[in-house]
Amino acid sequence: MTRYSALALLKHAVTGQPWSRAWRDPAPKERYQVIIVGGGGHGLATAYYLAKEFGIRDVAVLEKGYIGSGNAGRNTTIVRSNYMLPGATEFYDFSLRLWNTLSHELNFNVMFSPRGQILLLHSPDALDSAARRGNIMRRHGIAARLLDRAAMQELVPHLDYSPGARFPIWGGLMQPTAGTARHDAVVWGYARAASELGVDIIQNCEVTGFVREGGRIAGVETSRGRIMAAKTGIAVAGHTSRLGEMAGLCLPIESHLLQAFVSEPLKPLLDYVIGFGGHGHFYISQSDKGGMVFGGDLDMYNSYAQRGNLPVVRDVAALAVSLMPCLGRVRLLRHWAGVMDMTMDGSHIISKTPVDGLYLNGGWCYGGFKATPASGWCFAHLMARDQPDPLSVPFSLDRFARGATIDEAGSGPTPRLH
Ligand SMILES: Cc1cc2nc3c(=O)[nH]c(=O)nc-3n(C[C@H](O)[C@H](O)[C@H](O)COP(=O)(O)OP(=O)(O)OC[C@H]3O[C@@H](n4cnc5c(N)ncnc54)[C@H](O)[C@@H]3O)c2cc1C
Repeated sequence: MTRYSALALLKHAVTGQPWSRAWRDPAPKERYQVIIVGGGGHGLATAYYLAKEFGIRDVAVLEKGYIGSGNAGRNTTIVRSNYMLPGATEFYDFSLRLWNTLSHELNFNVMFSPRGQILLLHSPDALDSAARRGNIMRRHGIAARLLDRAAMQELVPHLDYSPGARFPIWGGLMQPTAGTARHDAVVWGYARAASELGVDIIQNCEVTGFVREGGRIAGVETSRGRIMAAKTGIAVAGHTSRLGEMAGLCLPIESHLLQAFVSEPLKPLLDYVIGFGGHGHFYISQSDKGGMVFGGDLDMYNSYAQRGNLPVVRDVAALAVSLMPCLGRVRLLRHWAGVMDMTMDGSHIISKTPVDGLYLNGGWCYGGFKATPASGWCFAHLMARDQPDPLSVPFSLDRFARGATIDEAGSGPTPRLH
C-alpha cells in the first residue's frame, strides 16, 4: 500500500511536485469476472471486499459520473446502530464494528468520530419505549444510555428547555458509540484500497442496458461500449428502480428526494449527534469545520433530481429553531439533495434477483451511509459465494412477496410513505 510519510508531504510542499493518482484510471476491458454498477460507497466497498476477503480481483466498478457524486458525497454522515428488530440490530452492529477499524483497514483516515448520538424524547411514553429499545440494544452488546431531563441539560445545554418549548424535552436515548465519519474519505479510501488490489474503477461510464445470453445477464451496455461479466451487481442507490427496469424487474422501491443543510462555521456548540424523536424528522450535528449539519424529512414526491424544494427548507429551518433557538440568527451556507431508494418497510435489500447473473444491493432509504462497510462485505459474500451470509438472509428481495418485512419505520430511521 502507498504510505505517505511526513518527509514526502514536505517534499511535495516545497517542490510543488504533483501527487500521483490515488487510484488507477484504466480503460474498460472487454470482460470481467464481476461488474459492480455504481461507484458510491456501497459499490466501492463491495469491490474492495471481493478482492480482499474473497480473492476476486477481476472486478470493474462502473460509475456514470465521478465516484462519490451520488448519495455517498451528499449525506449527513451519521453512523449508528440503535436498531431493535431482529436482523437489523445484528446487521448494523456488524457495520459499526467495521467502522471502528476502517481507517486502519484502508490505510486512509475516514475520520470516524464516535462522539455519541442522542435521540430526543418528548413525552413520558417516549421515555418508556426508549427504555425498551435501550434494553434490546444492550442485550445485543450495543451500548445504550437512557438520559433524564437533567442529564440532557448538562450534555446538550443549547436545546430549548423553557416552559414554553414547542417540543418539551423529557430525556434522551444515547448510543455513546455512534457518531459521524467523513463521507468523501470513505469513498476515496475504499477506491484507493480496491484499486491497489487490482479493481478497475471506471468513471464517466453509464450503464444503459443489460446484455442477455440465454435468459441470463452476461454483461452491460455502457456509454463506453459493451462490457461482459459472469456476474453483475447493482449498487446504484436512488437509481435502483431504473436499473431494475432495464433488467425487466419491477422492484418495491420508490425514489424520493432528501435534502441536507450546512450553516456557516460556528465555535463548538454541539458535542453530540442529535435526532428529533417527535412527530416529524430532524437531526443535527456539528462538523469538524464548525458548520451545523442538519436535515429533515423527504420531499415526499418522486424525483430523480438532485435538488430539493423550498417548503422543506422552511420546515427544516422551523424545526431547527424550535429545538435550538440560538440557531435563529445563524446563516445557512448551502443545501442540496440526494435521491433515496425508499423501500416500503424502510429496510434494505441484499439479494440475488429472479434474473440469473444479476445481484441487487439497494433500498437503503436514508440510512445507508452507516451501512457502507457491512453492505459491501455482505454483498461481496453473496456475489462470491452465490449464498447470502447469515446477516443478509432477512434482507432478501422475496421478503416482500412472503410478507416477511422488517419495518422499523416508527423508530426514526425512515418515515412512512404509506
Ligand atoms: C441528504 C442525505 C442525508 C443522508 N444522511 C445519512 C446519514 O446521516 N446516515 C446514513 O447512514 N445515511 C444517510 N443518507 C443515506 C446514504 O447517503 C445512502 O443510503 C448511501 O450513500 C447509498 O449508498 P451509496 O453510497 O452506494 O450510494 P451512491 O453514492 O448514490 O452511489 C450510487 C452510484 O451509482 C451511480 N449510478 C446510478 N445509475 C448509474 C448507471 N446507470 N450507471 C453507472 N452508475 C450509475 C450514481 O452516479 C452513484 O454514484 C443520506 C442521504 C442523503 C441524500
